[in-house]
Amino acid sequence: MVFANAHLRHTQLVEQIRQHDEAYYRHDCPVVSDQEYDRLYHELLALERDYPELSSLDSPSQRIGGTPLSAFRSVEHLTPLRSLDNTYSQQEVREFVNRLQRLLPEEKLEWILEPKIDGLAVNLRYEDGLLTMGATRGDGVAGDDITANLKTIRSVPLRLNPKSHDVFHGKFEVRGEVFLRRKGFSKLNENRIAAGEEPFSNARNAAAGSLKQLDPREVAKRPLDLFVYGIGFSDSSAATLPSTQAATLHLLDSLGFQTPERTWFCAEPDSIVSALEELAGVRGSFDYDTDGAVIKLNNIALRERAGFTAKAPRWAIAYKYAAEQAETKLRTITIQVGRTGALTPVAELEPVFLAGSTIRRATLHNEDELRRKDIRVGDTVVIEKAGDVIPAVVRVVLEKRIGTEINFEFPKVCPECQGGIERTTVPTGGGTVWRCQNPQCSAQVRGRLEHWCSRGAMDIEGGGEVLVKQLVARNLANDVSSLYQLSLEQISGLERMGEKSARNFLDGLASSKSCDLWRVIFGLGILHVGAGSAKSLGRHFPSLDDIGQASQEKLEQIEDVGIVIAESVVNWFRDPKNQALIARLRGCGLNFTSGLYQPEKRVDSGPFAHLTFVLTGTLPTLTRERATALIEEAGGKVSGSVSKKTSYVLAGAEAGSKLEKAQQLGVKILDEPTFLNLLQASIPNQ
Ligand code: NAD
Repeated sequence: MVFANAHLRHTQLVEQIRQHDEAYYRHDCPVVSDQEYDRLYHELLALERDYPELSSLDSPSQRIGGTPLSAFRSVEHLTPLRSLDNTYSQQEVREFVNRLQRLLPEEKLEWILEPKIDGLAVNLRYEDGLLTMGATRGDGVAGDDITANLKTIRSVPLRLNPKSHDVFHGKFEVRGEVFLRRKGFSKLNENRIAAGEEPFSNARNAAAGSLKQLDPREVAKRPLDLFVYGIGFSDSSAATLPSTQAATLHLLDSLGFQTPERTWFCAEPDSIVSALEELAGVRGSFDYDTDGAVIKLNNIALRERAGFTAKAPRWAIAYKYAAEQAETKLRTITIQVGRTGALTPVAELEPVFLAGSTIRRATLHNEDELRRKDIRVGDTVVIEKAGDVIPAVVRVVLEKRIGTEINFEFPKVCPECQGGIERTTVPTGGGTVWRCQNPQCSAQVRGRLEHWCSRGAMDIEGGGEVLVKQLVARNLANDVSSLYQLSLEQISGLERMGEKSARNFLDGLASSKSCDLWRVIFGLGILHVGAGSAKSLGRHFPSLDDIGQASQEKLEQIEDVGIVIAESVVNWFRDPKNQALIARLRGCGLNFTSGLYQPEKRVDSGPFAHLTFVLTGTLPTLTRERATALIEEAGGKVSGSVSKKTSYVLAGAEAGSKLEKAQQLGVKILDEPTFLNLLQASIPNQ
């Protein structure tokens, strides 16, 4: 590949991965399977290996996980909580074992294989045997302080079993995975559906979403559970700590933790392969989800010799079970026009049974993806489905091409309204899309109406595709406000609509008038505003009018909003057509006040009012907690990550990437004495 092409592909991959990270880590709502994500990620790594000049500080290859959420206090782990290198191939597991053997040629290597639990990594800190801190992994160095939430989980010991060992003297950190058992997950989703809330797509997303709840009472209602698989830090001398993984699990068990229910001891590479196969056979019988196996070197002293890369230990690897795939024929490609006007190519397939259902259609994402994968009508393609994500075409089976396949000609106008289309870049990543430029395009109108009625938005029963299609075709509705003018006769006269269903639909419309504001904001379909951002807006503003009047700068400050969404919201409210729509909806009696609104407990006074600090490294005399308290007492805020809005970075010894970022952004950096001087100077004489 020539450099220019590599550069272009690299930019695309960085954008795509960033977008998937956002969906996965922040919103717990991935749009592609893990395998598809890992493919993109490995492609990025390969490109950066071939062209090292492409890897930059902000490439996803340089980071672990997501950034901490600012809703929680950020806490640094005593030792980094890294990720794991992963593979989907047994051959690569063998290569990993051989690599380690070459690194430690004299040693007889033994392995422990554990199920890889599909949940969320957490770090628990005990001080003198008492739980003092629980955090998410965050970016590996610092995570969100979710102690109160973790304390609601019954399998999290609040005090370690004192009889077992002396490791609980001083600080002691363990690593584990919070997850939901299948039964608990189904029950949680049943309750959500009954309460009119969107069900979670899988147990991992549900566990992650639950741990991020701001109210621990809410978390206590979720049946979360914990497996602990490792020690991250201990004040005790190495000599008193276990010397193998097997002994570590035994110790953790005796301290009161729940450890993985089955593990395999493997003295030979061949027994790793048979353990992988055995686990594949039994993992369906566990009452929780596993997405693979983790193969770890048993001997802890040898692990230390093997060391770590920036992201992962060299002594362990995750083997992941592949998402289910199937081969089928691509009959034709159609174009679907969405509510935002985006033209999405869709593969119409010969029906094939996959992962529990018959698949007839799969997304081809956008024109760039179609070209990059060189997908042609008539091709035999591999499709993939994992969890609840939309089935996708992964690749063409080139060996099965016979020469009669046809290149797909992307349309030059909107296939629905014949209006003009324009190629736009999706600012949140995801490449470029063609968009129909006619807001009156009937596909867009239908999309907006269906979205408004959908369960995640205004939750109006019966307002699905069949009804909406007829309403638009008969000119009975052209925007969401016109739904509220419909009469019983108009609706009951439509196909597949008896009087009873028509009444239900009208009742649904009537009760939607009292829906909370975030549903209205989400339902309006403002570009890039998902349910999460709509809720955030609802928490920060008392009414729709307040949102409409907010400046872009103010909106950007809000969690889950950011620059792209803020700009989109401001533009939406500025458009006179949208202002007229709001006036009509107000006339219909919709609720525009927010039940989620929480006036910020703002400290507008104090010498540090409106100043945001980021702490990094070890300070000579102040602990992190003390420095935070001093800043907060002075009216300032402490944030976990550096941005242009950071006022000061307070840096101590061994400060890492936050210091680098501050230097790049030109944020002022303080050492402890300067910080204390600043504090003293700003406090009025007492
Ligand atoms: P990972 O999930 O591949 O593996 C590391 C994690 O495994 C550890 O942090 C730990 O939490 C967990 N784990 C479970 N059981 C364990 C055990 N017995 N021992 C040790 N660890 C155990 O890596 P990650 O960094 O958490 O997440 C990255 C992965 O997440 C990607 O490779 C991808 O598969 C997925 N992802 C998917 C999307 C998407 O859009 N689908 C987006 C981002 C990330």
